[in-house]
Amino acid sequence: MVRAMLVMAVVSMIPFTNSFGEGAGISAEDAGWAARRQAMVAQLKVYHITNTCVLTAMGKIRRHVFIPAAYRNSRDAYADGPCPIGCGQTISQPYIVAYMTEKLALMPGNKVLEIGTGSGYQAAVLAECGADVYTIEIIPELACHAHAALDAEGYQGIHILTGDGHKGWPEYSPFDAIIVTCAPDEVPRTLVDQLKEGGHLIAPVGRGSQRLVILHKQHGQVEQVEDLPVRFVPMVRE
Ligand code: SAH
Repeated sequence: MVRAMLVMAVVSMIPFTNSFGEGAGISAEDAGWAARRQAMVAQLKVYHITNTCVLTAMGKIRRHVFIPAAYRNSRDAYADGPCPIGCGQTISQPYIVAYMTEKLALMPGNKVLEIGTGSGYQAAVLAECGADVYTIEIIPELACHAHAALDAEGYQGIHILTGDGHKGWPEYSPFDAIIVTCAPDEVPRTLVDQLKEGGHLIAPVGRGSQRLVILHKQHGQVEQVEDLPVRFVPMVRE
C-alpha cells in the first residue's frame, strides 16, 4: 500500500512533454490544468472568438492560479462559466473575458483602465495583449490577492489601486480603453471623461437585467451601442 502510494507520488512528478506543446519538465498536475486550458480555448473558438492575441493570452495564462486556493477545487477553473473567488464575487466566464477584451480593439502599448480587479485574471489577459494596465478594486482583500497572484505569475508592471472605481484614476488618465467588470446602473460620467479620443469603453450596465454597453469616443462625440445580455456583480459605492 505504502509502496503503491510512493510510486504514484513519483509518477506524478515525472516531467514530460504534453500534446499541447507546453515543453518538458512540467508536473502531471500542471499538464492536467494545461489540457483544460486548451479545451477552454477550443470552446472560445466555437464561440467565434478570433482575436489571436486574446486566444494566445488565454491559452497561456494559468487561470486556476488566480482563483484563491479555497475555491480552486470547488469548480473547474477552466469551465465554461463564472467561478467564485471569495467575498461574494466571481471571475467571469472565459467567453465573456475574451469577448470584452476583443471589443476593446487594443493596440500594443495602449493604456487601459479596468474597474473591478477581482482575481486579477482579466488584468493579466490585458497585459498579455500588450496593454499598460491600471486596475481598481474596492475590496482590499481581493486587491491584495490579485496583487500577489499577478506578481507570482510575472505581471509586476500592473498598477493596482484599492478604492472606488466610480472616480476612475485621474492621475493616469486619459486611457486608450476602459473595461468595467462590475455592473453600474449607468456608465459613470467620470469614466467617460477619462477615456481618450478614439478609445472604447465596455461595461455591463443595469440592475437585474443587464447589457454590455460599448461606448466609442470620436470627434468629441460619444457613440453608445447596446450589446449582449450579461450578468455581473453590481458596481458598489465606497
Ligand atoms: N475582472 C475580475 C472579475 C471582477 S468581479 C477578474 O478577472 O477576476 C467584479 C469586481 O468588481 C469585484 O471584485 C468587486 O469587488 C469589484 N467592484 C465592485 N464595485 C466596485 C467599485 N465601485 N470599484 C472597484 N471595484 C468594484
